[in-house]
Amino acid sequence: MRNNTAGSITNFMEGVRHRNRAQKEFQQAVGEWAHDVFPWVSQNPAYQGHNLSARMTEPDRIIIFRVTWEDDNGRFQVNKGYRVQHSNAIGPYKGGLRFHPNVNLSILKFLAFEQVFKNSLTGLPMGGAKGGANFDPKGKSDGEIMRFCQSFMNELYRHIGPFTDVPAGDIGVGAREISYLFGQYKRLSNTFTGVLTGKGLSFGGSEIRVEATGYGTVYFMEDMLRHQKKSIEGKTCLVSGSGNVAIYATEKLIQHGAKPVTLSDSGGFIHDPDGITQEKLAWVKDLKEKRRGRISEYADEFGVRHYPGERPWSVPCDLAFPCATQNEINGDEAETLIRNGCEGVAEGANMGSDADAIAVYRKARILYGCPKAANAGGVAVSGLEMAQNSMRMSWSRKELNQHLGDIMRGIHERCVEYGSEPDGYVDYLRGANIAGFRKVADALIAYGTSA
Ligand code: NDP
Repeated sequence: MRNNTAGSITNFMEGVRHRNRAQKEFQQAVGEWAHDVFPWVSQNPAYQGHNLSARMTEPDRIIIFRVTWEDDNGRFQVNKGYRVQHSNAIGPYKGGLRFHPNVNLSILKFLAFEQVFKNSLTGLPMGGAKGGANFDPKGKSDGEIMRFCQSFMNELYRHIGPFTDVPAGDIGVGAREISYLFGQYKRLSNTFTGVLTGKGLSFGGSEIRVEATGYGTVYFMEDMLRHQKKSIEGKTCLVSGSGNVAIYATEKLIQHGAKPVTLSDSGGFIHDPDGITQEKLAWVKDLKEKRRGRISEYADEFGVRHYPGERPWSVPCDLAFPCATQNEINGDEAETLIRNGCEGVAEGANMGSDADAIAVYRKARILYGCPKAANAGGVAVSGLEMAQNSMRMSWSRKELNQHLGDIMRGIHERCVEYGSEPDGYVDYLRGANIAGFRKVADALIAYGTSA
């Protein structure tokens, strides 16, 4: 990187840190983006002189609100609700809702920022947003979840709409929560529209949406391997998490002949050296989706080891799929992965790897499917759910799976276009950052000061 570009990044990041004090995840996301985008802009004069870096790192607006709800003992509880509408430059705001006790403004701002470029990469007309609450769904009854979702929507409904902002699920927000949220929106607005995605199939949902993020992450890994004339068959794979993304990434790995050997949750991970089979995964789906149990129960059921409080990255593998939460692989763990033979990482989770880990992957020149690219399948099928809602029709599972595969291939091609190096190595993160940036930048330049 030339010295004057490095200097501009340092100055810019000083301003970002000053304006977004104590928001370390947001600073981390912007820093990683600037590292790739600034050098490209310095070589492309058409993108200079519009102050795009400042315009793209300040959200359009942030809504913060109180959510009061009644627990099963008749006590009033209070949580903090958020919606970060980062940019609608290329389409209505779009991005998930997260219910988790560690939700704060920094995490939602980083997620909304990344969502803008991820959505741009899909090629579909969607802006970027993220929202949620510091509400912990664990241990809550169905009635409590319903009352919380209804109260959350009592405020959120003023700020969203099928042409304004279309939320979806994320950590702690699955089919059950989306149904309660959608029901309340419908009641408050007296409209039936595609205002949320991830809906049930009987009321406007799309086939493949539940599976899309996990399947798409595996498709992206296969695209990266295919580019190197390799295949996923027979590869030993580590998966973290045991929620929506982890379950369907594992399912696709099994279907395509790979051998997933780990799953985790916030209590630790299980290692099944014989491989997680479709039958065992069906048991996990029931455990997590119906019984809402802990992954440690897998160890008792199938006679394997559970490692309490640990993450799976010390297990030898060919490929790794972080699918739980942000910053779950650090620099040391990345070194361990590579020392043990790992040749590729594809992130189902957002910001699964921290900045040190990414530097390790880049240095070792292993395949690194960054989240903006690798987990874009979920939002892509959400975009297709919006299209189906607008047309008042639905496509078949086969057609949607085909669309998902095509979209992931398109994202891979855009990453290769902008991330290829002279020796043939593809820096997928750089490719995703620049390709995602370019489309949004073109729109901002066209709008002038209106955006
Ligand atoms: P779920 O709530 O279905 O599952 C989350 C999983 O991650 C659970 O197993 C959970 O364990 C684990 N987890 C959460 N927080 C932590 C933590 N601090 N430490 C260890 N494990 C943790 O969420 P999703 O599967 O939907 O989302 C997972 C990731 O994928 C997130 O980063 C999300 O942003 C990203 N993503 C999701 C998309 C989607 O379509 N759902 C789309 C694109 C990205 P526990 O139950 O113990 O909390």
